[in-house]
Amino acid sequence: MTQTTGETTDREFDVIVVGLGPGGEHVAIKTAQAGLRVLGVEERLVGGECPYFGCVPSKMMIAAAEALRGARRVNELAGRSTVTPDFGPVATRIREEATDDWDDTVAVKRLEDAGASFVRGRGALAGDGGVEVDGTTYTATTGIVINTGTAPGVPPIPGLAETPYWTNRDAVKLTELPSSLVVIGGGAIGCELAQVMAYFGVRVTVVEVADRLVAPEEPEASEALERAFAETGIQVLTSASIASVSYADGQFTLALGDQELTAEKLLVAAGRRNNLQGLGLEHVGLDPESRVLDPDERMRIADGVWAIGDIVGKGAFTHVSMYQGAVVVNDLLGRDGPWADYRAVSRVTFTVPEVASVGLTEKAARESGVDVVTATGDLGSRGWITRESGLIKLVADRSRQVLVGGVVVGPAGGEIMSMLELAVHAEVPIATLLHQHFAYPTYHRAYETVLKDLASETGGR
Ligand SMILES: Cc1cc2nc3c(=O)[nH]c(=O)nc-3n(C[C@H](O)[C@H](O)[C@H](O)COP(=O)(O)OP(=O)(O)OC[C@H]3O[C@@H](n4cnc5c(N)ncnc54)[C@H](O)[C@@H]3O)c2cc1C
Repeated sequence: MTQTTGETTDREFDVIVVGLGPGGEHVAIKTAQAGLRVLGVEERLVGGECPYFGCVPSKMMIAAAEALRGARRVNELAGRSTVTPDFGPVATRIREEATDDWDDTVAVKRLEDAGASFVRGRGALAGDGGVEVDGTTYTATTGIVINTGTAPGVPPIPGLAETPYWTNRDAVKLTELPSSLVVIGGGAIGCELAQVMAYFGVRVTVVEVADRLVAPEEPEASEALERAFAETGIQVLTSASIASVSYADGQFTLALGDQELTAEKLLVAAGRRNNLQGLGLEHVGLDPESRVLDPDERMRIADGVWAIGDIVGKGAFTHVSMYQGAVVVNDLLGRDGPWADYRAVSRVTFTVPEVASVGLTEKAARESGVDVVTATGDLGSRGWITRESGLIKLVADRSRQVLVGGVVVGPAGGEIMSMLELAVHAEVPIATLLHQHFAYPTYHRAYETVLKDLASETGGR
């Protein structure tokens, strides 16, 4: 059933996947391998934002930045080192190893090798199982899966649209760095890229409209990150309102009340906009102006239509998109679940220190009516030994004696979090968690102290 890329002559399929982000690619490959006739439709690059403009290139930059930090720490812990940053090796790795120079030939081949057909173009729902791609209509007899993802959101700040600002899609293509940078947006993407630049010696200012960095996370995590940013020499302006942006003579100027910021480059990392415009949602009985889609536990949004990934607002992460893709595969192949469950969604901001969370924050837990109890502690002996700071905060349901969420801030926080991820997912009783052996002196041993505090608060033992 393989077709030559972009030249498929068949018009009828069992499944059509519109937008091939990580989840859509997964659905197309798995259903094709199961023997269904599958068409994948992608207007840009198969794989979506993550491999070409998001997770992978940004994490390559972060790996390099962490190497710089480690080399500088020699002066504190082990002698003398002189560090001369060079962005060249990172740029080369991103171009050659991560993105094949932003070419998806390998990904398209993977799709076709699995037995799916592929069309490059912009797809839109056309009604009655139809998907129109640049004037040609294809029909899905079983289902259509939408995985159209997001584009960088650009806030309506006067003057901004007329300037040559960067988004993440420009930042990952850099071959050399500016001397100074303003980042609009102190969320995960803005913080990660800001800190990379700072470790490479760029003078960085982060401007955030909320009253703290990584605002959806626990306030304690934001405080820890703001301290780390100050130590890295990053200026952070929170509760900031940008009145205008202009660009002249190679310099950006941002007006903020009575303050003016100037920098050589400007990065906009102020949220994402769901790609739902012009998708023909009205043809399946949905509001064409929808900003987010609201699927059921099988990811269905209408009869014969499924939606996955960032556009369903359950967590804009690659692992969530792929998790939802697996749910759709179960449904399309007639399996009996498991269906989508969001109690233990995990997320990591890959800064130094990493901010890694799972499940509910204290605020979200209180708002959802949980009988909340919390406990917080530092990274214990290992933190002291390595001179790394961080924290663990656990959020528990007193009445059920289980954890409903938590955050780990620290080196490799995303790895340390894994035990917490399991505890929230499997609803392991706090008493069971507490009476395990915590290897000494690991970072994760710090859970023990926090769990003890939590147990004394909840009345557990
Ligand atoms: C800088 C950055 C860093 C990130 N880091 C991480 C991280 O470390 N970990 C993590 O889990 N997540 C991270 N993310 C988020 C992650 O990239 C997304 O959550 C992930 O890509 C899943 O998105 P998605 O499945 O919704 O689709 P996307 O990856 O957005 O892909 C959607 C695809 O659909 C295509 N498309 C859109 N409209 C149409 C149409 N009408 N017809 C045909 N094709 C269409 C698009 O071209 C695109 O290729 C990061 C994002 C950014 C920007």
